[in-house]
Amino acid sequence: MREILRVQKLGKNLGSYFGETIDIRAVLRDVETAAQQHGWTSEIFHASGEFKWLALHRKSEVRSQESAVRIYISAGIHGDEPAGPLAALKLIQENNWPENAEIFLLPCLNPIGFTLNSRGNADGFDLNRDYRNPQTAEVRAHIAWLERQPKFDLYLCLHEDWESHGFYVYEQNPDNKPSLAETMVEAVKNVCPIDLSENIEGRPAKNGIVRPNIQPHERPDWPEAFYLIANKSRQGCTLEAPSDFPLPMRVNALVAGVGAALKSFA
Ligand SMILES: [Zn+2]
Repeated sequence: MREILRVQKLGKNLGSYFGETIDIRAVLRDVETAAQQHGWTSEIFHASGEFKWLALHRKSEVRSQESAVRIYISAGIHGDEPAGPLAALKLIQENNWPENAEIFLLPCLNPIGFTLNSRGNADGFDLNRDYRNPQTAEVRAHIAWLERQPKFDLYLCLHEDWESHGFYVYEQNPDNKPSLAETMVEAVKNVCPIDLSENIEGRPAKNGIVRPNIQPHERPDWPEAFYLIANKSRQGCTLEAPSDFPLPMRVNALVAGVGAALKSFA
């Protein structure tokens, strides 16, 4: 494990992401196949051209659904962050969910962005800034889907950061429930370096954890996580894999982070 931690950045990301890209059509085909094999139900909540936006659902295995914890996981809102959809695929294939967890999994919120290796959608719009007064068809459809769902006990949004020196996590926890961030970082550090900077994206950070003190109502350009904390869930994390490291390592980082959160939460 020590050796993995000494892995150096690839040095490819000069000004934006220049690493490996994925064939999102193939990834989403594999997602659908694996989801079917493992008994998920699948809903298409938006379509554009050849692309469908999937919402996958897996019931908990406990008899009383009241004791189930509802966990929402999304990936792929930024089309230049390929580890997210790959991690969603791997999580479905590994099928290693806590038995009392009911999972809502959106494996790719911006498939067209992936065909362009672009952060934004086909029009260059950053979908992850459109959750307050949504203008894009993708986010409107996503919010309409969210409004039909129950509240979640936890949300996890899977992202990558092309500038970071390692994995890190943003935690929103306004009610001061037991934190999941430390457990996640502990698990991820076995498979990927952690970004130990004291300032990440302009916010104070410690041991790979950012706890932004944000009042969503003071900000005009909501990311998905703000919509979720304002409307759907009182606790959640945004996981950021470092995209200047090899892609399999980033996928493993996201999978390990989600696994640790699920295990300590459910
Ligand atoms: Zn992102």
